[in-house]
Amino acid sequence: MNDKQLIRTLSPDTLKNWLAEHKEKPFRAQQIMSWLWQKDVHAIDDMTNIPETLRLKLQQSFIWDRTQLLSFQLSSDKTIKAVFKLYDDAIIEGVIIPSDKRMTACISTQAGCPVKCVFCATGQLKFIRNLSAGEIVDQVVDLNQLSQERFGKGLTNVVIMGMGEPLLNMENTIMAIKKITSDEGLRWSPRRITLSTVGIPEGIIRLANEHLGVNLAISLHSAIQEKREKLIPFAKKYSLVDLQTALKQYTYFTHQKITIEYLMLQDMNDSITDATALSHFASQINAKINLIPFNPIDHCNLQPSSAIKIEEFMSFFKYKNFTVRLRKGRGVDIDAACGQLANKFLKDV
Ligand code: SAH
Ligand code: SF4
Repeated sequence: MNDKQLIRTLSPDTLKNWLAEHKEKPFRAQQIMSWLWQKDVHAIDDMTNIPETLRLKLQQSFIWDRTQLLSFQLSSDKTIKAVFKLYDDAIIEGVIIPSDKRMTACISTQAGCPVKCVFCATGQLKFIRNLSAGEIVDQVVDLNQLSQERFGKGLTNVVIMGMGEPLLNMENTIMAIKKITSDEGLRWSPRRITLSTVGIPEGIIRLANEHLGVNLAISLHSAIQEKREKLIPFAKKYSLVDLQTALKQYTYFTHQKITIEYLMLQDMNDSITDATALSHFASQINAKINLIPFNPIDHCNLQPSSAIKIEEFMSFFKYKNFTVRLRKGRGVDIDAACGQLANKFLKDV
């Protein structure tokens, strides 16, 4: 079994070559690709328009790394946390966040995360591996299906803000976005997708060059280098100056407005000095600001900022004419809110 190739790493042309070698018709490639990337099926045997003999050959040569929805929990605010098992038994999570106008899925790009931000539950888990492009796309297909079943309507938006750092799984994340947005995939508008990153300058430039058209959000959390390094030790490798340069290039190439995500942490990054530093950073790149209430996690002493402090921050940025929003914490009772993914589940298994 181990020498079998993952079927979704094949391009349409390599699949056609494989079919020719196995004396099969080339038009089967398109049929197989459609099953692999567009449909809510889980096994090669479910490819009903493919003859049994060819299905058998496919099974003998390939593994289909299809995610399996293991279980899900419903929060009192209707947020759903879904747990997926990967073909090698790794576990990841996805979330559905219903609101008045939107049905948003939050999806993962890695099992665990090597970045290890001190405030994030995913960062406390062992990093297992990058997800394949197919495993990233499957989460959208499966959460869309679950959303239809539970809420009677499909997804409207996708945020790549679940487990993992997407720019450390660059190739697969880019391929997944292309599949989600292309005609051969799920035909989504890229404007309905937001990618959140801890901010890796070379990755941001690469994204700009791909012209994917998705929205970009940067987890900044402090515009003061030493404080940012305390929260995100990984940020020692990248100065805020380099990050800002990359973001400027990103807006120059894409003409898109970037969102800065900023966790509100008591006595850590919520003073007037912090707000001033953030406003300097954000004004240089003409960014919008999303303030995020901190969801406390185990083994971390950080505390959420008070409602008054958050309100002061909001007023400060409104006064300076920034577009500023406060993100609502959702699904806190089932650990589905940002940074709590997998916190409970993986400890329970
Ligand atoms: N690795 C990417 C995407 C996944 S994290 C990134 O860091 O951007 C998605 C968002 O959840 C980030 O903005 C992250 O800072 C935030 N987050 C992590 N832990 C959190 C917590 N305990 N409370 C609130 N938000 C958190
Ligand atoms: Fe990784 Fe993002 Fe969590 Fe940091 S916040 S550990 S980058 S998932």
